[in-house]
Amino acid sequence: MTLEAQDKQYVLQTYARDYTNFVEGKGSTLFDDQGRDYIDFASGIGVNSVGHANPVLADAICDQARKIIHISNLQVIEPQAKLAERIVKLSGYDMGVFFANSGAEANEGAIKIARKYGETHFENKRYKVITLEHSFHGRTITTVKATGQESFHTPHFSPYPDGFSYEKSIDDVYRAIDDETVAVLIELVQGEGGVQPFDKAEIQALAKHLKKAGVLLIVDEVQTGVYRTGEFLASNLYEIEPDIITLAKGLGGGVPIGAVMTRHKEVLKAGDHGSTFGGNYLSTRAGLAVLDILEELYVSGALAQTHLYFEKKLQEIAASCDDLFEKEVGLGLMRGLRAKSPQIQSAVLKESMAERLIVLKAGRNTVRFLPSLTISKAEIDEGFKRFEAALARVEAQ
Ligand SMILES: *Cc1c(COP(=O)(O)O)cnc(C)c1O
Repeated sequence: MTLEAQDKQYVLQTYARDYTNFVEGKGSTLFDDQGRDYIDFASGIGVNSVGHANPVLADAICDQARKIIHISNLQVIEPQAKLAERIVKLSGYDMGVFFANSGAEANEGAIKIARKYGETHFENKRYKVITLEHSFHGRTITTVKATGQESFHTPHFSPYPDGFSYEKSIDDVYRAIDDETVAVLIELVQGEGGVQPFDKAEIQALAKHLKKAGVLLIVDEVQTGVYRTGEFLASNLYEIEPDIITLAKGLGGGVPIGAVMTRHKEVLKAGDHGSTFGGNYLSTRAGLAVLDILEELYVSGALAQTHLYFEKKLQEIAASCDDLFEKEVGLGLMRGLRAKSPQIQSAVLKESMAERLIVLKAGRNTVRFLPSLTISKAEIDEGFKRFEAALARVEAQ
């Protein structure tokens, strides 16, 4: 039985899958079972923040696996406490952290904190959460409902929880807030929605307004967090002070982990929230190793160099291929090329894969780039060489 047949027979077919069988990786290069090399400009979906087979991460995971992988959260977990301290200090915010296993789960935690805050701080028990159009917050029933894309709210899974609505723009958020609104949940750069960064001044004005109105600001940094946009958090880059922040994708370098952090440390009490796996020895030790690597990259200025180099290449392509692309979008190493049509987007994705370059799609017409933050100049050069070959084939069609 081929791998494809095995997958199709035994794995629930919830993904439109590519069947290249990757067997090994090194840095931002992947190898398939035929020994062919691929340049990885996707890093999972912004997950392999320190590249494939990173020796520092691999050593930390192996060392931890030989000691303790897991003990329940009924005991204190040393790497969990260390990772929480590290995240809080890097963020610069006076917050406490709860560990989960994914982005959706981190957002569930954020919504629970907000709901309990609303219940305990306001006589009318505020509970409504406002999100934005084109947002993405996860795949659980609640986070699907929080996701501002009508196509996600299919009747297959209804009824959904009450109290979620989404708005077209930040301006509309102001109008939508009523006396039952407990929180506004936003991404600072909409990832799945099309790598669209919001305007800094607009976000700062919103944050200020929410503070005055006593409405919590929840920033979903599942994709933007952990240095993806150049600073530790996009919230740092935007110079705002959210009430609640969620993290996941890049934090474990591929080991599943999610985190919700809040300055309202007193809201959740023992028994209010929990997780069997969340924050175990293995995932938090991985998180510590990832932060060791990335903090060094940030402090040395190497991360900023990589980001500028990558950005320059994309700008050149956007300018030279203006028949295919409208513009270049994004921040840091979270970037996109806005294709002129969905057809161009899918042709670019298809031809990139044919050139052995892995890129992602976002929204209806964006080609998305989420390379590992440790990607080398040589890998960037090789990746863009392949990308240009792919674009030449699209242009010839
Ligand atoms: C990926 C993503 C999620 C969902 O994370 P999962 O780990 O797949 O549950 C939530 N929010 C944002 C902004 C994301 O990019």
